[in-house]
Amino acid sequence: MPITVAPFTPEELAEGERAYREKAFEWLDQHWHGSRECPICRSRSWAIGELVLIQVARYSSLAATAWRFMCPVTCLTCYYTWQFDAAAAGVISVGEGGAGHGVPIEDQP
Ligand SMILES: [Zn+2]
Repeated sequence: MPITVAPFTPEELAEGERAYREKAFEWLDQHWHGSRECPICRSRSWAIGELVLIQVARYSSLAATAWRFMCPVTCLTCYYTWQFDAAAAGVISVGEGGAGHGVPIEDQP
């Protein structure tokens, strides 16, 4: 299925970006119970990056089976980055516009 992006205004896109980062930091505050030190440089300064779209494959068939929006969390000192599934975490609503930016996405059979 092709990916399409709805024609949002610049103001709607800016609001979506703000809401995305706010929800991502809320999710981190609720779920990040361990040390918040970077495992590489020990900094405690993190940034939420732009969403990353990855294609997931099942090992049994090695065929791509789904797309996932990942939320990158990057150390502001050394740029070490880890990520979590933004839709599964409730940070974005995929296919409903708003923070999902109207990008419809479906798992492939
Ligand atoms: Zn670091």
